[in-house]
Amino acid sequence: MPRRLTGFTPSGNLHLGNYLGAIRPIVAEQHTSDTVVFISDLHALTLHHDPAEVRERTLEFATLLLAAGIDPNECLFMVQSHVPEHTELHYLLECVTGYGEVQRMIQFKEKARRQQQVRTSLLTYPILMAADILLYDTDEVPVGEDQRQHVELARDVAVRFNTRYGHTFTVPHAVNPPVAARVMDLTSPAEKMSKSTSSAAGALRLLDEPNLLRRKIMRAVTDAGTTVIYDSNQAPGVANLLDILGGCTGTQPQHFATQFDRYGELKQAVANAVVDSLAPIRERYLQLAAEPSHVRAVLRAGAKRARDLACDKVRQAKAAIGLLPS
Ligand code: ATP
Ligand code: MG
Repeated sequence: MPRRLTGFTPSGNLHLGNYLGAIRPIVAEQHTSDTVVFISDLHALTLHHDPAEVRERTLEFATLLLAAGIDPNECLFMVQSHVPEHTELHYLLECVTGYGEVQRMIQFKEKARRQQQVRTSLLTYPILMAADILLYDTDEVPVGEDQRQHVELARDVAVRFNTRYGHTFTVPHAVNPPVAARVMDLTSPAEKMSKSTSSAAGALRLLDEPNLLRRKIMRAVTDAGTTVIYDSNQAPGVANLLDILGGCTGTQPQHFATQFDRYGELKQAVANAVVDSLAPIRERYLQLAAEPSHVRAVLRAGAKRARDLACDKVRQAKAAIGLLPS
C-alpha cells in the first residue's frame, strides 16, 4: 500500500480549502491507506513569527484535525518538532543538495521578495520538507501546483543520495489532490483561499461561527453578469461558489449551474452547505479544546510511533553517508 504524507503548517487559520482539498480526503481514505499527517511547526519558523502564536496554533491545528475526523489510530499523527529526526535528516540532506538548487525554488523567490530580512531557513525549508518526506519512506505527496517543485527536489535528493551512498530512501512523487478541490478567495477569486494571504473576509475559516460563515458567503464577490454560469474564466466568483457547493455536497459543480436563477439564491444554498459541513467540526473542536491534556497525550503517542520509524531511517542514512559503521 503506498504511503501518503501531508503536513499542515501552523501559521494563519485553517480554512475550507484546507478542509476540502486536504483534510477531508485524508479522513475518507485513512482506513484503506497508509497515511502520515503532521503539523509542520518547524516550517512556521521560516517567516517572522510570534513564539506564543506558534505554540497555540500547533495545539489548535492538532485539535481541529482530530475534530475533523483524523483518526490517530489509523494515521501516523504527530507534531514535526516532537520528532527530532526531521532536523537530523535535514542536515544530512543538505549535504547532497546544491546551493543553486534551493535558490531556484519559485516559492523562495516569491516569499523572499516580500521580506526585508530573509531567514536562511526560508531558503533551506524545501530540504527540511524533503527530510519530512524521505524520513517515512513516503511514496505519494498530495500537493497543489505551488508545492510540486519542492516534491521534485525531494525526488532529486533521494535519487542522488541513493546513487552516491547506496539505496536508502524511497523515491517519492507528487500526486494531484482530488479534482475541483481548489477553493478560491471569496473577495479575490483569482487567488486561492490561503492561510497566509487571504483576508478575514476572503477565507471561510474552520472555526468561524455559522453566522459569520453565512455573512462572508453573502458578501462574496460575484461577477458582472446576472445569470448563474459555470465558467472560471468569465465568471470566476460564481464558479468558485459553485465549486464550493459541489465540494461540500459531493456533487459536480456544473450540476448546480442550472438550478439557480439569481446569485442570491446560489449564495443561500452555498451558505447552507458550508455551515452543514463546518458547524459539526467546530462543535467537536470546542469539546476537544476543553481537554487539551487529551490532545497532548495523542500527540505524544504519535511522536513515539513516528520516532520508531524515523530513528531507523536516520541510522541507515548515517551509516550510508559515513557517520556510523556500515
Ligand atoms: P499558506 O498560505 O501558508 O501556504 P495554505 O492555505 O496554502 O497556507 P498549506 O498549509 O500550504 O495551506 O496547505 C495545506 C493543505 O491544504 C495542502 O494539501 C494544500 O494543497 C491544501 N490547500 C491549501 N489551500 C487550498 C485551497 N484553496 N483549495 C484546496 N486545497 C488547498
Ligand atoms: Mg500553501
